Amino acid sequence: MALIVQKFGGTSVGTVDRIENVADRIGKFRDNGDDIVVVVSAMSGETNRLVELAHSIDEKPEAREYDVLLSTGEQVTIALLSMALNKRGISARSYTGTQVHILTDSTHNKARILSIEEKKMRSDLNGGRVIVVAGFQGVDEHGNITTLGRGGSDTTAVALAAALKADECQIYTDVDGVYTTDPRVVPDARRLEKITFEEMLEMASLGSKVLQIRAVEFAGKYNVPLRVLSSFDEPYFANNKNGNESDGSNGTLITYEEDEMEQALISGIAFNRDEAKLTILGVPDKPGVAYSILGPVGDSNVEIDMIIQNISDDGTTDFTFTVHRNDFVEAKKVLSKVAADLGAREVVGDDKIVKISLVGVGMRSHAGIASKMFKTLAEESINIIMISTSEIKISVVVDEKYLELGVRALHSAFGLEEKV
Ligand code: ADP
Ligand code: ASP
Ligand code: MG
Repeated sequence: MALIVQKFGGTSVGTVDRIENVADRIGKFRDNGDDIVVVVSAMSGETNRLVELAHSIDEKPEAREYDVLLSTGEQVTIALLSMALNKRGISARSYTGTQVHILTDSTHNKARILSIEEKKMRSDLNGGRVIVVAGFQGVDEHGNITTLGRGGSDTTAVALAAALKADECQIYTDVDGVYTTDPRVVPDARRLEKITFEEMLEMASLGSKVLQIRAVEFAGKYNVPLRVLSSFDEPYFANNKNGNESDGSNGTLITYEEDEMEQALISGIAFNRDEAKLTILGVPDKPGVAYSILGPVGDSNVEIDMIIQNISDDGTTDFTFTVHRNDFVEAKKVLSKVAADLGAREVVGDDKIVKISLVGVGMRSHAGIASKMFKTLAEESINIIMISTSEIKISVVVDEKYLELGVRALHSAFGLEEKV
């Protein structure tokens, strides 16, 4: 018998039929003798619908009220799923984030979880009940509802698994694991049996939305065994009561066991469509210039990603950086003011760019990956606009029209496809 936290994403609970299927699946785990804590997302499309509603009232809605609105999607799903379980004779209780006291800081729209009260959940579990918790939401110390950022139900699940010291946290979604790249872009992408926390963290932060980045951080920090699985496959039992190891596909395990893994050069390719870049041209080149440009941008709550500075021989410098596409207009406004103050020549921008990244711990011990990447893109006549590297990743920024072509070409050049 195990304690398992199971999270079902929007598509997996997207219709009443699918909610009934999830209830059947949970029933099979109960039959196997496992204790189950369930975390659910809003039904697919619901959170987007709520976002649109908010924006139809106010372009920049008040953050507190925005969270009150967005958190309602998950409340619908917990109730429906609990009804479906109870109908099957599986005793279940639904809880909002406030009710199980998922305490967060007060950063509305992207709050961080600080603690979770496990007492009430323990007593339900001891009473043989399935607990169904609303993902993506918490409560701050003043009793205000908060939300954890888009995709935040993954983080709720991992945090609950950590608090309850669950045997495993299973993230059920519409693909049967983490693939070498998004299978919607590369149909012959390969499912990974295992991926290291470090690589998964890079993949998530570089744009692979299969897991929210904070969920991976949390799992790494609290040592939570984390697995990504499909909610449409046969259930997978780590320890079937009949002694079988596994029934259905075992998805992808996020693991620490770097040494045991076959050391692939590249584990995966991540990409991010939400990029934009800004350049301030002809800034007088003197100490403090980076601070006087990036300081005001940071102060307006815009996160900066890649940065490049080029020095000209006329004593001026050009400064380019990337931001999230949603922040493009705001960042451009701030930068235009900075340009006027500094006596810079011009501000130019482009919000039709994307970032493609190769990720793999195998890069540490191999040279030549960057040049192979650049050669592959050159052969497809794809112009590289910016480059950034770290020990286990190489990222390039390219025009958005080359996203699919670039990802497919790299996927094949590095031999990542499914071998038949
Ligand atoms: P959920 O609603 O269940 O949280 P998401 O849409 O957030 O599901 O995440 C699953 C999606 O992530 C998949 O449908 C897939 O298109 C996308 N995805 C992006 N990169 C990858 C990857 N490397 N492996 C698997 N899925 C990926
Ligand atoms: N419903 C929220 C969203 O769409 C949270 C989640 O699904 O994880 O972002
Ligand atoms: Mg998700």
